[in-house]
Amino acid sequence: MSVPVTSDPRAKRLLIVGGVAGGASAAARARRLSEHSEIILFERGPHVSFANCGLPYFVGGEIAQAGSLLLQTPQSLQARFHIDVRVRTEVVRIDRAARQVSARDLSNGRDYAEPYDALILSTGAAPLKPPIPGIERAGHFTVRTIPDVEHIIGWLRDGPGNCAVVVGGGYIGLEMTEQLKRRGLSVSLVEALPQVMAPLDREMAAWLQQELRAQGVALHLNDPVAAFEAPRDKESARASVVVLRSGARLPADVVVLGLGVRPEVGLAKDAGLRIGERGGIRVNEFLQTSDPDIWAIGDAIEVRDAITGDWNVIPLAGPANKQGRIAADNVFGRPSQYAGTLGTAILRLFSLTAACTGASERALRRSGLPFLAVHLHPTSHAGYYPGAEPIALKILFAPDTGRVLGAQAVGKDGVDKRIDVLATAIKAGLSVHDLAELELAYAPPYGSAKDPVNLAGMAAQNALNGDVRLVQWSELEHLDPERTLLLDVRTDAERQHGFIPNSIHIPLDQLRARLGELPKDREVVVSCQSGQRSYFAARILTQHGFAVRNLTGSYRTWSTARTG
Ligand code: FAD
Repeated sequence: MSVPVTSDPRAKRLLIVGGVAGGASAAARARRLSEHSEIILFERGPHVSFANCGLPYFVGGEIAQAGSLLLQTPQSLQARFHIDVRVRTEVVRIDRAARQVSARDLSNGRDYAEPYDALILSTGAAPLKPPIPGIERAGHFTVRTIPDVEHIIGWLRDGPGNCAVVVGGGYIGLEMTEQLKRRGLSVSLVEALPQVMAPLDREMAAWLQQELRAQGVALHLNDPVAAFEAPRDKESARASVVVLRSGARLPADVVVLGLGVRPEVGLAKDAGLRIGERGGIRVNEFLQTSDPDIWAIGDAIEVRDAITGDWNVIPLAGPANKQGRIAADNVFGRPSQYAGTLGTAILRLFSLTAACTGASERALRRSGLPFLAVHLHPTSHAGYYPGAEPIALKILFAPDTGRVLGAQAVGKDGVDKRIDVLATAIKAGLSVHDLAELELAYAPPYGSAKDPVNLAGMAAQNALNGDVRLVQWSELEHLDPERTLLLDVRTDAERQHGFIPNSIHIPLDQLRARLGELPKDREVVVSCQSGQRSYFAARILTQHGFAVRNLTGSYRTWSTARTG
């Protein structure tokens, strides 16, 4: 139903392609800004504004009803926002010269034209399906839409089998792994890279790998799929046998493909809009494409990485929703800029939560930006109050100004709020000195008088001030034993549970009395369990004239990175 365009000179005919995260958000904002505009939202699929982020939890049964995933319906968008929603309608062409699109009604194949004053593209990103032999076999599924997950559930219900293979260890693959286990399947997770969850640095992803194994997931890292084959004589697999490069053959009653996504840019490309090197639609800071009457948002576009300044594709719901609002503002003449994406993300994996914001060490190295990193293992709340859980926390910061560049955290409790505080700090351009000073809410069940974020700031300050020099877990194996002595200052009991090879052991509380056992002609690299007592030791040794470095994150980071 079309809304009569009144004499309001600002009223426009706005067409939006893609009716989920970015598109629905743009449409709703547009209506709030312009009551008299005509707004048409095209969606190829059967649903608008559905919770794609909730799809894995529907497979596992945590979300019981598909209806719970529908945040809006065409009817509710029409009723509240007066938006003309056309589901099962694909926009197949943009005629920029005539300023009109061709839309195809998928229920009858009929094409028709709709003119526009302004056009917003929020076409999203499609799951990758690389040309691996056998990838199109029955029983293989990607996860993007409600029908996708209904097909998975139907396949599991309608046939025998309890073996799943998930291909891809990104967040969709990990969430699906957790949820398929929850359904009682035995799950193998296959990842081509040496680690899961690529936005995390290796030693942080290692915690997730430990958790996967502890939960009984068969983890195949660094071992890409070579082919999906039909089962041989003695193999039982309802879908495929997944053959890995190593030669391993994994029988699968169901295969979930979580191999990443690619911006859906076909429509934009055919219309001659500029596509960037990362494969997304290139937009300016106002989210305007190379055609000033066309805006683009969400997973389909390239964004500036807010830390490195590099163009990137970062498919996340938060940015898509915010960009929807910004694009609508600009369409209706309210200049509004998108400042870039931090990539703040969070994942639950069985008992663990992992989250990150800003740049990873890997991204900083790739961009050639100088940085320092500290690792620490504070508890989620005051250690004396029951239920405190350790958090593995890493922050990256500029070696000159101390500006916070990135943060990653993994733990059972309190990870989300630390990463959100750190994401806010990065957005505000705060430094590690500011982190040390942040006044955060504290009572024993919630935090500590020195919150993990404060402690991270202090640990970083210590490095910046020159109070302590740091060594990273990854550097340890490259140290020259002729010139370096490894010193473990933990207790006897802790050491019995494992230690760094070739380290000598002097518990911290005996250190002052045993300084004579240490050489002054070699650098002493001190470690403890988490890096805090070794920092105390480093301060003692430095003030007694030793050359010292502290293993940041100490045994916990080092051992997890090596075994996870
Ligand atoms: P989408 O929401 O994908 O919408 C694009 C829509 O455009 C699609 O429905 C498509 O059918 C339609 N379309 C495309 N081309 C046309 C055309 N020519 N004509 C008509 N319609 C068209 N992000 C997070 O931040 N946190 C999470 O926990 C999280 N979990 C996720 C879990 C899953 C399983 C998936 C799939 C995604 C998840 N995401 C998550 C990512 C998040 O959903 C996306 O970043 C977000 O939906 C992007 O919004 P968008 O509007 O760009 O694209």
